[in-house]
Amino acid sequence: MKKMLKKTFILLIAITIIVTNTTLAVSQKDSTDLQNKINEAKDDLKDVNNNKSEAEKQVDSLQSQIDKYQSSIDSLNDKLDDLNNSIEENEAKLKEKQKEYDENSELLDERLITIYEAGTVSYLDMLLTSSSLVEFISNYYLITELTSYDLDLLEQMDKEKKEIEEIKQTLENDKKEIENLKSEKEQKTKELNSTKKEKEGYIDELSGEAKQLQEDIAQFERDKAAIDKRLEEIANANKPSKPSGGSGGGSSSSKGYICPIPGLSKANITCGFYGYSGHGGVDFGGNYGKSVVAAKSGKVVISETLTGNIPNYDSNGNKIGSYRSYGEYIAILHDDGAITLYAHGKPGSRKVKVGQKVKQGQQIMNVGNTGNVQPRPTPSNPRGGAHLHFEIRINGVRVNPEKYL
Ligand SMILES: [Zn+2]
Repeated sequence: MKKMLKKTFILLIAITIIVTNTTLAVSQKDSTDLQNKINEAKDDLKDVNNNKSEAEKQVDSLQSQIDKYQSSIDSLNDKLDDLNNSIEENEAKLKEKQKEYDENSELLDERLITIYEAGTVSYLDMLLTSSSLVEFISNYYLITELTSYDLDLLEQMDKEKKEIEEIKQTLENDKKEIENLKSEKEQKTKELNSTKKEKEGYIDELSGEAKQLQEDIAQFERDKAAIDKRLEEIANANKPSKPSGGSGGGSSSSKGYICPIPGLSKANITCGFYGYSGHGGVDFGGNYGKSVVAAKSGKVVISETLTGNIPNYDSNGNKIGSYRSYGEYIAILHDDGAITLYAHGKPGSRKVKVGQKVKQGQQIMNVGNTGNVQPRPTPSNPRGGAHLHFEIRINGVRVNPEKYL
């Protein structure tokens, strides 16, 4: 079990190294961007490991439950052994007592026959009509012919009979208790096995989840790198004669953006530019279904869906598709060479095609939660993680959209 977790951990490290190397190869040009990506991958891995250690705790608590069941089964086994020993002893004692009683009974028979043959009273009749030995003894007291030897013998036999009854009772009780202990043990064993099963299922799920999450992160990195490259090529191919100013330039061409969700402003940003490492845009959290509009007039250069294995649901909890990375997203090239990007749109909501010209404020899609969003949408929370992710690139470099809104 521990081995399995260790294996998963080694696998995660290996994937991280691969991810980091891929990132290195793709963006050697920009060392800042590279560092951000490495940090982002490290952060993502930290998240995975945090999730993992939380799950490990649960596995540990199941293990301590298993240990408890095992130790109570062990103590039940000890009790069973003790009872079996006591039964064995009592059975031997019973055999011995029975033998003594039988011998005395034989002796008494002989004595009674002797008295009967010699005497006048029907002792044998009396014995047959007496309900117990005690009654027989008390009847005997009335008979003067009876010797003290006979009385002693009868008393001893009565005592032996009582002892035999007691031992029999003890044996019966011990056997009952054994039955109880056995069924208790059976119950504990059942619980032990079901807890073991639960634990194993949890470990399988855990390693599967960690693996899936790591794969999703690695896929997102690959997608981002590919999209970066595409947008860089588009930007290079569409360089205006007068290049636009950078983040510090403040030239007129870098102004004139509106908020991509009408009615909202930069005050509604829920996660800022590099709000966490690697976050090269801003998020407008919530707002599921609201219109997303072009922040500035331009030409659509990307309008597509990245399908993958992160499921999405409608408001009734029915699965309506599986996505990855940016999910449903659009990129618009503006006249000054800047590019805006809008991600995680509602399934099927994109309203513009590549090559289409759009005016500032024109609806391009609706806010959704497709692709790599947190928290992941679930059937019970179909709008989980909904937000618009918005980026601005100037000269192929991501800039803080807050400064342009
Ligand atoms: Zn974002």
